[in-house]
Amino acid sequence: MNIELQCCALFILFAIFVMFLREKKLDLMNRKLFFRALCACFACLSFDILSVILINMSVLNGFNSLVTELVCKIYIMLLVLQGYFGYVYASTSLLPRDKTWATVARAISHTIFVIGELLMLILPIGYEANGRIVFSYGPSTSVAYILSAIYIISTIIICICYRNQMPGRRLVAMLLWQGIWLLAAAVQFLNPELLLVGFASAFGMVILYIQLENPSEFIDGSTGLFTANALSVYVHDKYKYGKRFSMFTAKIHYMTNYVDYNMEQNAVMRTARALVELGPEPAFRIDDDTFCVLYDEAERMLDKAAYIKKRKDGVTDLPAKGTYLLIPNSLQMSGPDEFFRFLHTYLESEDEIVVANEQLVQKLRDQNKVKDMIDDALAGDRVEVFYQPFYNVKESRFNIAEALVRIRRENGEIVPPGLFIPVAEETGQILSLGTRVFEKVCELISKGEARKFGLDQVEVNVSAAQFDHDNPAKFVFEYMDKYNVDPKRINLEITETAAADNYDIMLKNMNRLVEKGITFSLDDFGTGRSNIDYFINLPVNVIKFDYTFTKGFFENGKTKHVLTGMLDIFHKLNMEIVVEGIETKEQVDVMKALGVDYIQGYYFSKPIPEDEFIKFLQNMQIYKTHLEG
Ligand code: C2E
Ligand code: MG
Ligand code: MG
Repeated sequence: MNIELQCCALFILFAIFVMFLREKKLDLMNRKLFFRALCACFACLSFDILSVILINMSVLNGFNSLVTELVCKIYIMLLVLQGYFGYVYASTSLLPRDKTWATVARAISHTIFVIGELLMLILPIGYEANGRIVFSYGPSTSVAYILSAIYIISTIIICICYRNQMPGRRLVAMLLWQGIWLLAAAVQFLNPELLLVGFASAFGMVILYIQLENPSEFIDGSTGLFTANALSVYVHDKYKYGKRFSMFTAKIHYMTNYVDYNMEQNAVMRTARALVELGPEPAFRIDDDTFCVLYDEAERMLDKAAYIKKRKDGVTDLPAKGTYLLIPNSLQMSGPDEFFRFLHTYLESEDEIVVANEQLVQKLRDQNKVKDMIDDALAGDRVEVFYQPFYNVKESRFNIAEALVRIRRENGEIVPPGLFIPVAEETGQILSLGTRVFEKVCELISKGEARKFGLDQVEVNVSAAQFDHDNPAKFVFEYMDKYNVDPKRINLEITETAAADNYDIMLKNMNRLVEKGITFSLDDFGTGRSNIDYFINLPVNVIKFDYTFTKGFFENGKTKHVLTGMLDIFHKLNMEIVVEGIETKEQVDVMKALGVDYIQGYYFSKPIPEDEFIKFLQNMQIYKTHLEG
């Protein structure tokens, strides 16, 4: 009997069945649909074999023709069901859920399916067996062929139309699966002895299983937890089908300095086991040191988080300290992109426990707007540098200026750095932004005009992140070489806090630059951790008293003494003093009398664009020459 190929296919499907049922799986829509398609394929093949056997028995031995006809009908109905499930498997994740036309398309395909199945049941069917040629025919069979063709072609069309929305691998697997089916049907049509369709659908299932439903990509080899890949698919699935969830995330900072790989693995395993205990909900390892568990309900997640905290505080079986991020309601975020952005941003938090709320989500959204604004400004060359001159008290002239970054919006509006520098520091955009500022400053110096009007040096603010650990002060050397700038013309301002937080890297970078003749100022003095012992070891020649500190001088008796005392100490250490934020003539006079070296403030000039700044220097020089003359 002509059933060898179908039997082989049945064995293959059985193997996939067993593997699929045994493996650890996530509750994903696609997996459910795949399982449905697998079941339909299995049932269809079984009835395919049964129908061949019964047709042979009826034709050769006069077996009950009604039973044979019924089995033939069930087989072709299952064949159509299989095609329909294939179409549903392919289209569910692709067709939009919120569009009316997609809902109508779904309803139509469903209706066609139901009507088709009824027609196949009602319409007459015939069968024939002639040696190895066994087939059914008649109106019922014709409906089956037409519907199968409709589903196969629809699946192929949908896959091609939405090819940009699915990974290339998925597209190839889907097209292969449907293509093999079509090819097998064509071969079987031309040569009815070759009953290939059943085998082709089983083969298609193998392709889908290996390429798309392969569990190994979803399971982390060392802990047995689900992977980051799996989390991504799971979270996308939840948002797509509007299912709310809660999440407990732990970023573990292992306390022991593991030298031995096995010891480290052991610690990871213990953490993984502790997290699995938070289940039966699925646990994921999303990074070497980051784990999470997803729950359907917030209360359950909060209970479990409290349990972990109690256990960690009470005993020592958890080998680590952690940063815990709790997201009680996934719907606070607009979708998977915002969800993952939130996760990555707040997992880096300094706090031990962060609970997601509207405020934090809003903060992220605002930060994102600023991030986009910075990117646009960098791309559209709208990052500008303004200059604010310092008055040199001893020489009565403006020979130094500070470069201060601005972003110009497309409508011409100027955005001050206070609004975007903190974000740029958090997102890492400070690297490109700082480089752009430095390049513009080098450009100004290389033009030589400012120098002609008495400018000796430009001070550039640098954030700690701009100093590279492995390649010290790379950006500075690169641009000074490119614009052929004398290192004497540049002074870099670092802040107290940055210096304190990254002391070693900072020192390494500073020393490299000092060797090349670059000088440094310590900015924002009086706002951070002012530990003088600490700073005298840094190679800085200038201390800049922050605006708030100088303001305090005029308002508060105690600050007055502190500032005067500091001034004395720094002068003894051969450092020069710049006071910031001087806005009136009286303040200028007081500062001159105190003996500060430079005065920076609105009294002389606000930070101004390059062309205005050049004019300012020119006017001041004319004015000075005039006075001296
Ligand atoms: P900063 O380095 O301490 O710069 C001095 C700030 O004081 C400037 O604010 C300046 O406009 C302001 N200022 C100067 N004189 C007066 C005054 O008399 N009254 C008042 N009320 N303010 C005065 P700006 O330009 O808004 O810059 C703010 C901060 O942004 C800077 O503080 C600096 O920390 C940062 N920044 C600016 N440009 C850059 C840059 O290119 N890179 C980095 N990393 N940070 C920058
Ligand atoms: Mg500064
Ligand atoms: Mg400052």
